[in-house]
Amino acid sequence: MFSVASARQELDKGNVSSLELTRACLARLQAIDSELHSCLLVDEKGALAAAAEADERLRKGERGSLLGIPYLVKDILMTKGLRTTAASKILENYIAPYDATVIRKLKKAGAVMLGKTNLDEFAHGSSTENSAFGPTKNPWDLSRVPGGSSGGSAAAMAAGLCLFALGTDTGGSIRQPASFCNLVGLKPSYGRVSRFGLLSMTSSTDTIGPLTRTVEDAAMVLELIAGRDTKDATTLSVPVGDYHLPLSQGFKGLKIGVIPSYFEDGLDEGLRTEAIRALEIFKKEGAEIINLDLPYNQYSVPVYYVITPSEVSSNLARFDGIGWGRAEEGADNLLSFYKATRGHGFGPEAKRRIMLGTFALSAGYAEAYYKKAQAVRELIKLDFAQAFQKVEVIFTPTSPHAAFKLGEQVNNPLAMYLEDIYLAGASLAGLPAISVPGGFTEIDGQELPFGWQFIGPMAQEASVLRAAAAWEKINNYQERRPNL
Ligand code: GLN
Repeated sequence: MFSVASARQELDKGNVSSLELTRACLARLQAIDSELHSCLLVDEKGALAAAAEADERLRKGERGSLLGIPYLVKDILMTKGLRTTAASKILENYIAPYDATVIRKLKKAGAVMLGKTNLDEFAHGSSTENSAFGPTKNPWDLSRVPGGSSGGSAAAMAAGLCLFALGTDTGGSIRQPASFCNLVGLKPSYGRVSRFGLLSMTSSTDTIGPLTRTVEDAAMVLELIAGRDTKDATTLSVPVGDYHLPLSQGFKGLKIGVIPSYFEDGLDEGLRTEAIRALEIFKKEGAEIINLDLPYNQYSVPVYYVITPSEVSSNLARFDGIGWGRAEEGADNLLSFYKATRGHGFGPEAKRRIMLGTFALSAGYAEAYYKKAQAVRELIKLDFAQAFQKVEVIFTPTSPHAAFKLGEQVNNPLAMYLEDIYLAGASLAGLPAISVPGGFTEIDGQELPFGWQFIGPMAQEASVLRAAAAWEKINNYQERRPNL
């Protein structure tokens, strides 16, 4: 089955049952996931029960966009009664006492959760190598990373283990793995989707969104999970739009902004050539290209890497082995208990961020680092707000290159942080952004996928969906699948 939309039709016509779809996904998972390691937990029993229930609802004539559709979810979202680890040792045996709002909505809609996917510990990273339970491999080339931090969700999607997957995007974690795995990855506006039941990373930029094969599927999932939630005060009161309508609007008359420096130094040669081709296509299809200057956007990575560790150091403080987290035994006083619990429980990247954030927030340094970063963040937002007076979307690469090799960057945090170069801006400004399959580039004689990003104005997911759907319709890269 290719997409959620096509599965929907077959389910409604009775040509296939949810149980058949679910069994097919589980069988494929069993066959190949020991090699990929995209999943941390498979809930076979729960999935089969949910599928049987969905079939019963379908049989009674009920219809719904995701009724009976099998999906996987990043293991940083609470799933009642199931292990929820954030890929951290400190939560190794943690059983979630309730469902995240998005999970609750999907359950009610009759979607079938198959299990939980791997990620960088607490979503810190761009390769899924920071998982305490081992890395995930990229189905397009098993010696490469799937991207991160939602790398398990992306690898599982690319390998055809589910029909859609949920990820989280705090500074690029849905968009970048989507680009490394030839998928659509949608980061909604900040507040568009409730964060209730998401283990917080950077509370001021955390978002939840879909990884899918097609733009239409992304629209279908977003429509269902979006909306105001009394359990998350940051959810937007702006109504959820009609996300289907923009899918057929095409490029004609669309004003697309381009930041020329994004296509110069630092971007892979092959992608640069493809970007020129993409711009030609936009023009030929009737879009208007407008050059933009976003002077403060060049500081988005340094600003993000002050704000993120600051919020991380605060959010991870709750894992003390008493209220939350696996307690280490054998300590004879409180300090040594904390040291042992947090020392063994957190991996190197989480510790790095706790230390950086604690420093950036500490007396005497907060003015110079945290407050300064927040001030520049306002200027970045202003840059975008001004740009969106002239254009409807901004076009950028998603990542400067295709997937890199496992191990290649894992010991170089700075190189890893620079992965977010085109991604952190939209996160800091809270804007909707999508990565759509952009094409293929040759590395070492091998064709690897990459993505293009469209960023839209606040709360206007419709704009990025329109541009991405228009691109997808012309190029159809989503139809290419890895040889597994
Ligand atoms: N790569 C970024 C980081 O490591 C983004 C992570 C994310 O979006 N969760 O912080």
